[in-house]
Amino acid sequence: MQTHRHEVVIVGAGGAGLMAALYASRGGADVAVVSKLYPTRSHTGAALGGIGAALGNLEEDSPLWHAYDTVKGGDYLADQDAARVLAYEAVDAVIELEHMGLPYDRTDAGRISQRRFGGHTSNFGEKPVRRACHSADRTGHMILQTLYQQCIKNNVRFFDEYHVIDLLVNEGRCAGVTAVSLATGEMHVFQAKATMFATGGWGRVWRITSNAHSLTGDGAAVVYRRGIPMQDMEFFQFHPTGLYGLGVLLTEGIRGEGGVLINGKGQRFMEKYAPRIKDLASRDVISRSIYLELRDGLGINGKDYVYLDIRPETVNRYLAEAGETRRIDNALVIKALAETLDLCRTYAGVDPLTEPMPIQPTAHYAMGGIPTNIDTEVVLDENWTVFPGLYAAGEVACVSCHGANRLGTNSLVDLVVFGRRGGMVMADYVKQADWVALPKDPTAEIEAEFKRLRTAKGKTRVAQLRQRMQATMMDNVGVFREGKNIATAVNDVQELYHSYRHDLSIDDRGYKFNTDLLEAWELGNLLELAHVTAVSAEARTESRGAHSREDYPNRDDATWMVHTLGLRCNDTPFPDEALKVELNHKKAVDTSLATEDPRFLPKERVY
Ligand SMILES: Cc1cc2nc3c(=O)[nH]c(=O)nc-3n(C[C@H](O)[C@H](O)[C@H](O)COP(=O)(O)OP(=O)(O)OC[C@H]3O[C@@H](n4cnc5c(N)ncnc54)[C@H](O)[C@@H]3O)c2cc1C
Repeated sequence: MQTHRHEVVIVGAGGAGLMAALYASRGGADVAVVSKLYPTRSHTGAALGGIGAALGNLEEDSPLWHAYDTVKGGDYLADQDAARVLAYEAVDAVIELEHMGLPYDRTDAGRISQRRFGGHTSNFGEKPVRRACHSADRTGHMILQTLYQQCIKNNVRFFDEYHVIDLLVNEGRCAGVTAVSLATGEMHVFQAKATMFATGGWGRVWRITSNAHSLTGDGAAVVYRRGIPMQDMEFFQFHPTGLYGLGVLLTEGIRGEGGVLINGKGQRFMEKYAPRIKDLASRDVISRSIYLELRDGLGINGKDYVYLDIRPETVNRYLAEAGETRRIDNALVIKALAETLDLCRTYAGVDPLTEPMPIQPTAHYAMGGIPTNIDTEVVLDENWTVFPGLYAAGEVACVSCHGANRLGTNSLVDLVVFGRRGGMVMADYVKQADWVALPKDPTAEIEAEFKRLRTAKGKTRVAQLRQRMQATMMDNVGVFREGKNIATAVNDVQELYHSYRHDLSIDDRGYKFNTDLLEAWELGNLLELAHVTAVSAEARTESRGAHSREDYPNRDDATWMVHTLGLRCNDTPFPDEALKVELNHKKAVDTSLATEDPRFLPKERVY
């Protein structure tokens, strides 16, 4: 075992981790970033469409409207102080990235170009607004490269290909993390005054997902096992436009440029469900609309997909019908959606310039996660009790600025806004905080668990268990949910967990680059998160945002303006018996904007 000591240790090198690292190092702290991937391979690099900020470069806009859209898009569960921070701090965060060298697309006047995105409107829902700043359709890639370069310049220390596998706690404070090196299989202890988790999401819980293979929710599971609750796990967003059968994401920017959804009868069906903003309604609304079309037998050729059409002749026809003067042509599509054309041609053999794209909803984004306050400090309960020394930012965190459903472009904003706040807060904290002693024998428990996995001699393969988990979660805890189906998923996941503990088989028993072992370990994390997700979904007897219950179709503000807190309550982090979770609730912060402006109070859903 090797021990390292850094004032600030950040787990994860996506947009959130890098922004936090940059700011903590600028604040004078000694910072290390521990990442299981090479930093620029983080999923932030796959983000396509854009980053939202009310710059008003092409039409009038205001951060207050952005905050309003965020709260409304989140079906009023968002903590409104967090939504306000997100929207107001987005403006200079985006400009700051520009100054760091991020090559945004430009308007004719040389300003940062902006495009439309679902749910982003001007004047409190009046009409769609151009708010998403973009760098073609590879915005996330550009953010990641820019931040990585800045971190290198600022002497941030990187530990690449180290999997963090445990949280170290002593005397009620966080003392750091344990990681395993992919190259050697050796355990490393990272002692820190401040530890931040920025490990991204867990889309791999579901069968069809836009998320990379690496998104197995390790960070969330690691802290959950050590007594940190998981907030709002029932809210997982299904993005409406995943490539059929694969889940590969087709950016909302396609609809931002004018793309339309078409059913098997050739109809533009969003006119029915969201007469005002149609194909630019928020993601939950569109995903449900697609399911309803499919259920009515209106898929393409009776199959379970519909079309997304960006062919200029189709788009221009609808633009003309709507009385708009704007028109698109092939050159614009090629310039604005280069990655999309490439993805479709490579993975589906479809050329979007001449054919419509086959799409279906795909598991995309975790609104829930590790509960934090607006300074990224992890909180333990409904009284917002801070757990000293532990921080979380980015998709793994639940601050909660996205409430029950995130708007497109708001995750990239979340990364840079809360990553930056977290970096500054940690730099201040480590100046006055003492070192926390490491717990006695810090790696004993986790080494025993790794030994168990490495020597597992059962009959069930990791891939079989993973497929069964993904299937039951897709069928029973997907876009539409119902009490008895969710209960089936809870049972299925418990059975799978039982096999995972008692009947797992593994081929590679070595130490170097043992991806077989690490996949088994990641499956354990996915099962934990699938379980707390299903239990939270079963408990929430209403429909709100991305959580849509057929047996409880209405939003119930009287009972459910609360966040769910799922606390793991087994006696040990690695139990042999069934997983246990206790649910508590935390009130949503719904006052700061709502009291000043009644438009922020929950209202009927009109899209
Ligand atoms: C295809 C796609 C397109 C998207 N498009 C957009 C968009 O246009 N606009 C938008 O706002 N949002 C978009 N999103 C969402 C957004 O990209 C993500 O929510 C965001 O990038 C997450 O960033 P992050 O920094 O939290 O984590 P990530 O970028 O996912 O990075 C996670 C980091 O954690 C590390 N890590 C994980 N587990 C461990 C472990 N056990 N030990 C050590 N390190 C670990 C990884 O190595 C990685 O560095 C998109 C998402 C996808 C999947």
